[in-house]
Amino acid sequence: MAPLIVIEGIDGSGKGTQAHQLTERLTATGRRVRLLSFPRYRETLFGHAIGDFLNGRFGQLNEVHPLLASVLYAADRFESMSVLTDALQKSDVVVCDRYVPSNLAHQGAKLDGAERSKLLQTIERIEFEVFALPRPSLVVLLDVPVEIAQRNIAAKQPRSYTEKTADLQEADAEYLQRVRDVYLQLAANDPNWQRVESVRAGQQRSIAEIGDDIFGQVLSTL
Ligand code: ADP
Repeated sequence: MAPLIVIEGIDGSGKGTQAHQLTERLTATGRRVRLLSFPRYRETLFGHAIGDFLNGRFGQLNEVHPLLASVLYAADRFESMSVLTDALQKSDVVVCDRYVPSNLAHQGAKLDGAERSKLLQTIERIEFEVFALPRPSLVVLLDVPVEIAQRNIAAKQPRSYTEKTADLQEADAEYLQRVRDVYLQLAANDPNWQRVESVRAGQQRSIAEIGDDIFGQVLSTL
């Protein structure tokens, strides 16, 4: 089985960008590399259900208990098991843009204290024990302050400055901060995690510089 390298971070932290760059750099060393991205919105039945969930088909996002939401994301991976296993068997390295830690961080962010800890344990059990998904060899956390992540999101999406958008963005900032906090908590408690600082001296580091750090960490894992 190939090592499973997972790229994590809040929205706009650069996961997609770095997962692609890492795949290219590893491929250039002659390794067979497979890049996967979760959720698999279009490929799986549960991926479609996640799209429906995000569009409010099951109620407002805060009306759906995070445990129920977490099952959809875990089931999307379970449904993808053959793709994942095939990639792990036929490649030298598998890179994932989001994996189990996204479920932990995004659902965990909706609860606090003991309730959060219990949910994190339950999600881990669902994903790794009940669904028997492979555990990552390395999780790279792209750690970005929320303001910078939001600037990145704005740069990649068409802008719309309606009153409603401003309100949503503010609400998002609070949520993104909570997600970032759970990620940091997870990174601090697991030796398989490496935190990569995307900002130095108040400035976002370049894509190439961050990529160098990630590449170095991945090479030392392989
Ligand atoms: P994510 O997958 O985490 O949502 P993306 O990789 O899609 O993030 O990046 C969001 C946007 O930010 C993209 O337009 C990307 O080009 C840009 N970006 C990512 N990393 C950096 C960086 N270090 N410096 C400047 N822009 C970046």
